[in-house]
Amino acid sequence: MSQVKAKKHLGQHFLKDENIAFNITEALSGNGYDHILEIGPGMGVLTKYLEKNPKFTTHLIELDNESVVYLAKHFPDLKARTYQGDFLQFDLNKITTGKLAIIGNFPYNISSQIFFKILDDKDKVPECVGMLQKEVAERLASPPGNKNYGILSVLLQAYFDVEYLFTVQPDVFDPPPKVKSAVIRVKRNQVAKLDCDEVLFKRVVKQGFNMRRKTLRNALKSLNLPYDNIEPTILDKRAEQLSVQDFVALTNKLSH
Ligand code: SAH
Repeated sequence: MSQVKAKKHLGQHFLKDENIAFNITEALSGNGYDHILEIGPGMGVLTKYLEKNPKFTTHLIELDNESVVYLAKHFPDLKARTYQGDFLQFDLNKITTGKLAIIGNFPYNISSQIFFKILDDKDKVPECVGMLQKEVAERLASPPGNKNYGILSVLLQAYFDVEYLFTVQPDVFDPPPKVKSAVIRVKRNQVAKLDCDEVLFKRVVKQGFNMRRKTLRNALKSLNLPYDNIEPTILDKRAEQLSVQDFVALTNKLSH
């Protein structure tokens, strides 16, 4: 049967290495959920391992019509659980009102947005295993004090434990992407709610990193919040030097 023709605008790079495919699917713990959603299954290199796993029921979302037709032929049992559409617009409650894990070799052009969406649904998504460009994976997993550490590192790490699992070279894909790839796993942590105003927390993190080379004193000026309670040693720092807990403490001081 003919193969799906790779389309650049959909970020299609098909994984050819079965060992890597298997290892990605094995990275899902299977604990704490009965359903999983695979984003962008393409020709189903991960799907065939997921479908066999008795720990969960597999659902698929794929934007590309040609891939959806291919999947229907090769995975007839999944046809009723295959959605054609954009993951970013997809209502996860359509699959289950319960918990749902997410997996995929993600389309790299939307990998950050995928994690912002997972954050929006953080109490529904206990776990996510994804392959994305190495640089973004490093950012998500980065500790403070590092140039990779940014907005999504802080926001994601506030609610999820992020693990960088392994690096994947371009030559195992068809066509090979221009960048290296990496697989990460994120698991929901125990934090039900941050110990501060969460809306303000987000604003502080975003504003701090938008001017990441400036001190927080300067970067946060436009928020027009009082600095009275804040030690100068904190204000002299830059956003990338603050841990999640430091941002929580700073948010509290800014809201008094
Ligand atoms: N999982 C396959 C394909 C990875 S390429 C493999 O490993 O070989 C990324 C896949 O995501 C492509 O099949 C592409 O069509 C799909 N895709 C791109 N944008 C998407 C979106 N917004 N929502 C869902 N799927 C998308």
